[in-house]
Amino acid sequence: MQDTSGGKAIGVPLQGEPRLLGDMLDTSVRRFGSRNVLDFMGRTLTYAGLGESVDRAAKGLQDLGVVKGTRVALCLPNTPYYPILFFAILKAGGIVVNVNPLYVERELAHLLEDSGATIIATCDIAEIHARVLKVAGQMGVKHVITCPIAGALPTVKSIAYRIFKRAEIGHAPSDARHCTFDSLLKAKGAPAAVAVSPDEVAVLQYTGGTTGEPKAAMLSHANLVANADAMVTFVGGEQPHQDRVLGALPLFHVFALTTVLTYSIRTGAEMILLPRFELQQLLKTIDRTKPSYFPAVPTIYAAITTAAETQKIDLSSIHACISGGAPLPAEVRVAFETATGAKLVEGYGLSEASPIITCNPIGGLNKPGSAGLPFPGTTIEIRDREDPTRLLPIGENGEICARGPQITQGYWHKPAATAELFADGALRTGDVGHLDADGYLFIVDRIKDLILAGGYNVYPRVIEEALYEHPAVFEAVVIGVPDKYRGQAPKAFVVLAEGAVATPLELRDFLRDKISKIELPREVEIRDSLPKTLIGKLSKKELVAEEAAKAAAS
Ligand code: AMP
Repeated sequence: MQDTSGGKAIGVPLQGEPRLLGDMLDTSVRRFGSRNVLDFMGRTLTYAGLGESVDRAAKGLQDLGVVKGTRVALCLPNTPYYPILFFAILKAGGIVVNVNPLYVERELAHLLEDSGATIIATCDIAEIHARVLKVAGQMGVKHVITCPIAGALPTVKSIAYRIFKRAEIGHAPSDARHCTFDSLLKAKGAPAAVAVSPDEVAVLQYTGGTTGEPKAAMLSHANLVANADAMVTFVGGEQPHQDRVLGALPLFHVFALTTVLTYSIRTGAEMILLPRFELQQLLKTIDRTKPSYFPAVPTIYAAITTAAETQKIDLSSIHACISGGAPLPAEVRVAFETATGAKLVEGYGLSEASPIITCNPIGGLNKPGSAGLPFPGTTIEIRDREDPTRLLPIGENGEICARGPQITQGYWHKPAATAELFADGALRTGDVGHLDADGYLFIVDRIKDLILAGGYNVYPRVIEEALYEHPAVFEAVVIGVPDKYRGQAPKAFVVLAEGAVATPLELRDFLRDKISKIELPREVEIRDSLPKTLIGKLSKKELVAEEAAKAAAS
């Protein structure tokens, strides 16, 4: 039997470059000192300026008590403070704990307790600040560092921005001590050098995993540098330092952390940071800054191509885009490429892999429906779901497993979950798929999203793709709902394209000759919007919970 190990990879990993994130920054500060490293709402910072701020903030953190291994939580939207503090924490010897600023109190408390973070950096947006102070005080966090961003945010007339009210620092009671970002930078002298090895943890990246409370994937310096280096080989432009990278996805999510932050620092490119995804602001920013490279998720590309305002914007500066995080519908890819003239390629990854493991080549063959070829230095294996010691042949669906320099050593303080994460040393992704004879990966679905209908495995993604072929469908999600006869049955939720008309019955009929009878949704429900994660992936868990509650009540 021909096994699938040792699949072909694009390019070769870079050798001999710095393997610590702080060294990677220092190298770029030396090489690209006077170039801009970022543009935030029209304000710019150079590589030299970033290097200086990072060193001062690192010393400030050490003065607050950061020593080797101290966990420091970063709870910030995209602003210049994120890259400064990210590298400062690492240079001070600490570990970055990435926190979504929109987490509710319970989620924030879990992350702080689980990581043991003793310092948290956040912003002065009143609502976020109050929440962080309250929870930090309860969880024994010693210091809260506040970055003044509320005043710097855009004043576009959108609900999303209008809620930003500035906090009155120092007024809310908390056991944690306050410190402003500016006072952190007033520290005198250079930070003490801390000996760190590339295999030590740099970032705790929380992820839903497949079960239970979020767990932290431990990402080492070597893991993150390897994925940034692989990006360079992969994107492979002549002069990547001339890239202008549009960062509309949050840096606290690992996809943007690598495709925007570490990729830019590694190459000397300029990041254009947006505090959050808001379509009008994004289009205005593209018009003003002329980005060349734009990593995002499928829902963002779809929103751009369908908005009427897009017609008025010149998108031709964008030459390459990597879509990740969720399947990229072929219709979205074609519409975006037509509107921009850019190449939009689909990649695949997960938090536990820093995150990218495969991608369609920017300059080579893209196979429709495929997540592409293994990243430089990466091997993909397809393993039997019931017996993960067994490798499956080309063309057969099984659990996608991966080896490579970007793969986590495991979950923070969770030996049992870590043991389950690997099969013969290869990362188990929890996704089902196969490789073709050319080494391209095809993802079928997440194992946890599979629907067991009357003993058959139904893959929601197959139904979703069939729905996207209907011109009236803008977004589609399929989940398994309790079914008296079959155990589970598929149900589809659809958002219609602007101005389009279609009935649930019509959509269901449209599917009849496209999918098998067992896959035909029991019901199609049309909604105005669908739940999304903070990076804009369509999210199923809210719909699953709603349907379970409905079934329990009936
Ligand atoms: P996270 O760790 O939160 O980034 O989520 C990773 C998961 O997103 C993967 O395990 C996949 O289930 C899904 N995912 C990422 N990229 C793709 C893709 N191109 N196609 C399908 N699913 C994807």
